[in-house]
Amino acid sequence: MAMRLGSIKKYLRHQSIMQRKGTFANAFASALAPFDEFSPKAVADALRDLGQDPEVDLLCAYCGQPAATWDHVFNRVIGGEFSGHGHRVRNLVPSCRTCNERKGQKSWRDWLRVLAPPDEEARVANFERFLSKTNAAPFTFDDMKHQAYDELARYLEIRAEVFRLMKEADDLAAIIRSRASAPKQTG
Ligand SMILES: [Zn+2]
Repeated sequence: MAMRLGSIKKYLRHQSIMQRKGTFANAFASALAPFDEFSPKAVADALRDLGQDPEVDLLCAYCGQPAATWDHVFNRVIGGEFSGHGHRVRNLVPSCRTCNERKGQKSWRDWLRVLAPPDEEARVANFERFLSKTNAAPFTFDDMKHQAYDELARYLEIRAEVFRLMKEADDLAAIIRSRASAPKQTG
């Protein structure tokens, strides 16, 4: 896409630290997510269940276009909190960038419904087969609370403290900015 004059606007404004809060909240949630070790066989089996040939270039599990990335079927983070779902072989499907971005917080089923590919039914069956062999249940907030109460409490405390410090830094930045740009006293 060609660049027009107006695109400069996003740079000409105040950038706060707190406007990145979502990114940090995601990092705190993501760090709790479980993950599988890489196993070519496990990935190949999962891809076959999705109806794909693991030996060739992969296709988007939603629309069938060439895949460019891996989509988490169940998001790791929901509403800023860890969902219990992780970076697992049976939680990652090949995806084109468009589907990966546009699916957003929608479930895989809802996204297929919105997309309505001609072979929607077959794709739903593929997903169901793929997910039916999920080897590990997601763990929940309650699981974490029961198994690691003190650690989780401290973890949440640290997160709150990080956000508090980010806010304090924003307030200081506002003072520094206004003083530095004030007319200079001479003499
Ligand atoms: Zn797609």
